[in-house]
Amino acid sequence: MTTPDDFLIFGAPAIEQPEIDEVLAVMESGWLGTGPKVAQFERDFSSYKGAEHVAAVNSCTAALHLSILAAGIKPGDEVITTPMTFCATVNAIIHAGGLPVLADVDPLTMNIDPERVREKITSRTRAILPVHFAGRPCDMESLCAIAEERELMIIEDCAHAIETEYRGKKAGTIGNFGCFSFYVTKNVVTGEGGMVLARNEGDIARIKVLGLHGMSKDAWKRFSDEGYKHYQVVDCGFKYNMMDLQAAIGIHQLARVERNWERRREVWQTYQSAFAELPVTRPAEPESSTRHAYHLYTILIDDRRCGITRDQFLDAMTARNIGVGVHYLSIPEHHYYRETFGWRPEDYPNAMRLGRETVSLPISARLEKSDVARVVEAVKDSLTARGKKP
Ligand SMILES: *Cc1c(COP(=O)(O)O)cnc(C)c1O
Repeated sequence: MTTPDDFLIFGAPAIEQPEIDEVLAVMESGWLGTGPKVAQFERDFSSYKGAEHVAAVNSCTAALHLSILAAGIKPGDEVITTPMTFCATVNAIIHAGGLPVLADVDPLTMNIDPERVREKITSRTRAILPVHFAGRPCDMESLCAIAEERELMIIEDCAHAIETEYRGKKAGTIGNFGCFSFYVTKNVVTGEGGMVLARNEGDIARIKVLGLHGMSKDAWKRFSDEGYKHYQVVDCGFKYNMMDLQAAIGIHQLARVERNWERRREVWQTYQSAFAELPVTRPAEPESSTRHAYHLYTILIDDRRCGITRDQFLDAMTARNIGVGVHYLSIPEHHYYRETFGWRPEDYPNAMRLGRETVSLPISARLEKSDVARVVEAVKDSLTARGKKP
C-alpha cells in the first residue's frame, strides 16, 4: 500500500534554509518589490554568466517578449523557432507582433535543425529563436553562420540551459539575447522569475524601461531613502519587474547552481546505465566541447518496441506514484496554432514523433538515492506490465 505522501512530485525544487531566511528578512524589511535584492541577484547572475548586461524580469516569457521587441521585430516580421518547445516561446513572438515560423528538429539532439532553418528563411525573416532543449546546446556555430549571412538576430531561449556551455561560450551569451526562466521546475527557481542577457548595453536599457511600464531609468528607486524622484513615461511598457521576494530565493538558489547540477548529472547517468537494456530510446550523450545542463531526462516509448503506448506508460508511472512529464507535444498539435497558422503536426515529422513518444522522468536535485531507485524500478515494472492496466 502506498499513501499520497509517497507520490514523487515531478520537478519539485530543492529549497533550503538560506532562501527561507532571506525571504523572511525581505518580508520584515518592508521593501518587498523591486529593490536591492533584485539588484544583487542581477549582479550575481551577471558574474555567473560572465555577461555584463542583464535585467531581471518576472518570467522567461517576459524575457522573450521584451527581447523580441528590443530586437526590433515589427508586425509581420518572421521569427524562426522550433516546434519542440513550450508554448511560451511561440506566444512571445506573437505578443511582440511577429509571425512565428517553425523549423523541424534533429531527431537525435531534439534541437532545431539549421538546415531546416535555412529552408524557412524568406525576405521577411528577422530573427532565429533557438531553444536549448533539455539543456543540450543547439548547433550555435551553424545558426550563427546563417544569422550572419542573412543578417538575422538570434534570441536564445535558455529556459532549460542556465549551466549550458557550447565550445567555451555560455548559453545566452552567444546570440544577441539570452532568456532564462526561474519557474518552479527549472534549474534555479524563484517561484516565478526570469532574466535577460543582451550583448548590447542599449538593448538592456530599453528592456529595463519596457519591463517597468515604460517609466524612465531607475524609476523603482522613487520611494527609496534617496528621496522621491520624478519619472517620465517614455514608452508604453509592461509590468514585468521581478520582486525582492523572488530575488531573495534566487540569490541562494544560484549560489548552489553547480552543486545541484552535479547532483542532476549523477541522476542522469544513473538512468542512462539503468535503462541501457530496455526497449526505450535514451537521450543522446552530451557532445564533447559542450556542457549539458541536465534539465530534463527524457526517454522515448515506441509502442511497437515497448508493447505499451506512451500514454499507457504515463498512467503506469503515475499508478506507481512517480510524477512524470511530457516535454513537449509538438507545437502544431495544439488547437490554437493549427487554427491560426494552419500548421499540421505531420509537416514537422521529427518533432511530431518525439512529442508523441517522449516521457520526462524526475531529475530534480532534491531526489534522494532511494527516490532514483524507485523511478528505475517503476520504469522497468511499467514496461514489463506490457500495457496491462496496473
Ligand atoms: C519554462 C519555459 C518557458 C517559460 O518560462 P516562464 O518563466 O514560465 O515564463 C519558455 N521556454 C521554455 C523552453 C520553457 O521550458
